[in-house]
Amino acid sequence: MSNQVRVRLAPSPTGYLHLGTLRVALYNYAFAKKNNGSFILRIEDTDQNRLVDDAVENIISTLNTIGVDFDEGPNKGGDYGPYVQSERLDIYKKYINELIGKGFAYHCFCDKETLDEMRTAQIERKEDPKYDRRCLKLSKEEVELRISRGDSYVIRLKMPDDRIFSFDDAIRGIVEINSNQIDDQVILKSDGFPTYHLAACVDDHLMEITHVFRGEEWISSTPKHLWLYECFGVQAPKFVHLPLIMNTDHSKLSKRKNDVSVENYLQKGYPVPAIINYIALIGWHTSDDREFFSLTDLCHEFSLDRVNKANGVFDIVKLNWMAGMYIREMSNEDLADKCRPFFENAGFDVSDQRKFLAVMDNAKDRIFCYSQAIEHSQMFYKDLSFSEEDQEVLADADSQNVLKYFIDNADNIPWDDNEELAQFIKAGSKELGIKGKKYFFPLRISLFGSSHGPDIPKLFAILGKNETIQRMEKVLH
Ligand code: GLU
Repeated sequence: MSNQVRVRLAPSPTGYLHLGTLRVALYNYAFAKKNNGSFILRIEDTDQNRLVDDAVENIISTLNTIGVDFDEGPNKGGDYGPYVQSERLDIYKKYINELIGKGFAYHCFCDKETLDEMRTAQIERKEDPKYDRRCLKLSKEEVELRISRGDSYVIRLKMPDDRIFSFDDAIRGIVEINSNQIDDQVILKSDGFPTYHLAACVDDHLMEITHVFRGEEWISSTPKHLWLYECFGVQAPKFVHLPLIMNTDHSKLSKRKNDVSVENYLQKGYPVPAIINYIALIGWHTSDDREFFSLTDLCHEFSLDRVNKANGVFDIVKLNWMAGMYIREMSNEDLADKCRPFFENAGFDVSDQRKFLAVMDNAKDRIFCYSQAIEHSQMFYKDLSFSEEDQEVLADADSQNVLKYFIDNADNIPWDDNEELAQFIKAGSKELGIKGKKYFFPLRISLFGSSHGPDIPKLFAILGKNETIQRMEKVLH
């Protein structure tokens, strides 16, 4: 094994990049950076039935967008490739044959029906369901005969009986599991592909991985992996089993309760630094327990002893709050750059930069993702339509006078000075002798299409002289 830290992200391309996988990626990346190590991307595509067409591209492009860079991987190359498991089948075969040769693995010809019956009978007898090793009793000749006649088979790993497997997990400390609890794992499937257990162990060994960061759901499989390493006569890597991410009701984070693919959040325009910050915070904290930190901070400060043991919770309310905080810290110019594509895709012409910056300033305090700015801003770009009630307000004689007052004074209004503008609008009420709703409603309705919304001076400032007057003229009788 390498002296230098080497870690890997090993996603299965069975879907788009999951929030949980992003967290594993962030911790791996930070750990590698902190220790001057290497970070490797390995695609684990041995489950051919569950492959999703563009998943590999999505995983790579999403990680690129997030800013997590790899030293080695399918898109990068490296000395330990290929980095896609389906391109390594010959390597696995060699290791499987070695296991069979040494008596550590055996052919199993049991079909699904047989296995189902076995399982049902064991459950009825109140035994833990496990493969009963009936194929282990087959003679070499029988095995050869059945293979030559084309019978379908898998290869199973023969676990030792009654042995305590013990390992020092980087997060959980010493973990002990009795091998009797563990099934003779299938390591080669009937389609000729290895299972995760065999392929991951072979690859972690050959790629000289020093630390295996993975979800806690793999703890119970670790004895199989330790046994595989023992059978091969090589040293196992250090295991770093991360606590799970749960929904707020403490069920496992799943599509049914939350959007779980990172893509969803990028598509909605959550600020990338906020996604990184929030996801890294589920399960890890800085030494001073502060809530806000960047990817660079994470890389400088990451330490395994501050990974939580308890499961973390994904709370969309908290993510939204944090994302909103990041947006409020942005300049109007930066926010405009991020929001522009969303507006353009929705068909809005936002080429008037002065207006768009004012629109951003108005939206900034109200949003947690860029796409949301549209809902708070579309009234500034669309032709307005009015409810019956609002039409009645606009038709009122006083309302018409208010609108006429501003149209007539268009050239005297201090459009470019927010304070003076506010003063001017205030003074108009006095001059006309029209107060409160009678004064504000016709202005807000004519400019914003609703009697509720931003302050009147803000509306004037956003729309600017021409559009403010045009909108008023439109509803002048
Ligand atoms: N391919 C496995 C998964 O996606 C990776 C587990 C591991 O990191 O070892 O769950």
